[in-house]
Amino acid sequence: MSETKKTQTHGSEARTGLVVMKFGGTSVEDAAAMARTAAIVRGRRDRGLSPVVVVSAMARVTDQLLAAAAASGRGDKAEALAITARLRTRHIETAAELLKGDLFAVVESAICHEFDALDDLLKGIAAVGELTKRTTDHVVSFGERISSQIVAAAFAQLGLNGVHVDARTCIITDDHYGKALPQEDAIEAALVEQVLPLMQAGQTPVMGGFIGATATGITTTLGRGGSDYTAALVGGGLHVGAIEIWTDVNGIMTTDPRICADALRVKTISFEEAAELAYFGAKVLHPATILPAVQKSIPVWVLNSRNAANEGTKITALAPPCASPFKSIAAKKRLTIIDVVASRMLMTHGYLKAVFDVFDHYECAIDMVSTSEVSISLTVESNDKLPAICAELSKIADVKLEGHKALICMVGEDIRGQNGISGRVFSAIRHINVRMISQGASEINMSFMIEESDVNDAIRSLHAEFFAAPDPTVFDVEARAIANV
Ligand code: ADP
Ligand code: ASP
Ligand code: MG
Repeated sequence: MSETKKTQTHGSEARTGLVVMKFGGTSVEDAAAMARTAAIVRGRRDRGLSPVVVVSAMARVTDQLLAAAAASGRGDKAEALAITARLRTRHIETAAELLKGDLFAVVESAICHEFDALDDLLKGIAAVGELTKRTTDHVVSFGERISSQIVAAAFAQLGLNGVHVDARTCIITDDHYGKALPQEDAIEAALVEQVLPLMQAGQTPVMGGFIGATATGITTTLGRGGSDYTAALVGGGLHVGAIEIWTDVNGIMTTDPRICADALRVKTISFEEAAELAYFGAKVLHPATILPAVQKSIPVWVLNSRNAANEGTKITALAPPCASPFKSIAAKKRLTIIDVVASRMLMTHGYLKAVFDVFDHYECAIDMVSTSEVSISLTVESNDKLPAICAELSKIADVKLEGHKALICMVGEDIRGQNGISGRVFSAIRHINVRMISQGASEINMSFMIEESDVNDAIRSLHAEFFAAPDPTVFDVEARAIANV
């Protein structure tokens, strides 16, 4: 394949014939799913494109590895090894269904080698009785390390010239274990040196998402859902023509279809809108995914590996104008509201800085802030540092915590300058108690806090209000019409 020509776009050179194809956990959950993935990749190669493939761990494996790590951390070696024994069997059985002869023997021995190393690691953690973030990253990395080797072998067997690349040789990060920061220049250099020549030679590189390594070779991860981020980093580093995120729904929908069965596919959405949605809880994309694509103006597609004929959602710099104010509704759960009350000091010089410094010290990101004359209310993801944060804040104010909160975030560029939208929003959910309200400075989102237990009700009420008659140029209304026949 010679489709690696470069064209000039926005100051950087795009290799328009290259495409990153990322397949999430459900798209590689078993042998049948891996075979569907191979057929989709074949389709791109048949069109003359050169794909580089990024895969997640098989569905639910990351959770199980985390459970094994936790069991070892509390000294329960038997439980940890029972989990890995089940995972070993699942991976070998999947490989056995897909691969034949020598290739199966090679992959089976590679899988056993990985699981032996994992078991040794878990035994070591159980012996020491201490689980650090660094060792957790090491344990959890095995999911993507192993799934990518099986998929690469399947692609080799199926005539797609699959070749495995250990992502840890390309995705160079800092040592912020659990949520490592990618070093984009080093990543680009490694990709151009190791992955590009494979693609130019007609091979299909397959690498695990989510995992990376420091410059000194210590394994790291990019945070939960991070395979999307890997896809964007690879796309940005290689200046590809498109990034495809293959998942288990038809694209970015008007809300999570698990909550609202009549959610519609959004045909096109802007980078800005997608980033806002991802940050505020739409699990379909990792929040950091958009940035590397934006920087190089690379279109991102969200597509369904179970329904590959569907057009999916295209994420681009500019979305077409839309008659409906919102594109989608997201919910972020497991939030805590922290009320910081200090009647005398609130407006004194340096006070807000002192409050924010406490959050900064504990590396705790704040989602929303609202102030009144005597108090500041902040929302954060519920986490185990909150008791320490509160103890620190109590030195300068009275502090109150309220857990089990959720943020509903409604996103759409077309709310800019429209009157009466908030009236419609709050009237649709007048039966629900709203705790805090914010309209983002970007003016493309409207967010408010409610009880976690009210999320489904709120989303369904808002969806009925705003997506009863959506703009057919932006939303896939035909699908709803067909479903209702
Ligand atoms: P993958 O394993 O492929 O990365 P994820 O489970 O991370 O897939 O993300 C896909 C899921 O995201 C869907 O099954 C859906 O339930 C959920 N989701 C949440 N919000 C949305 C939305 N607005 N559009 C589409 N899917 C959404
Ligand atoms: N396997 C990782 C997770 O479950 C990364 C991903 O799937 O994107 O979080
Ligand atoms: Mg995901």
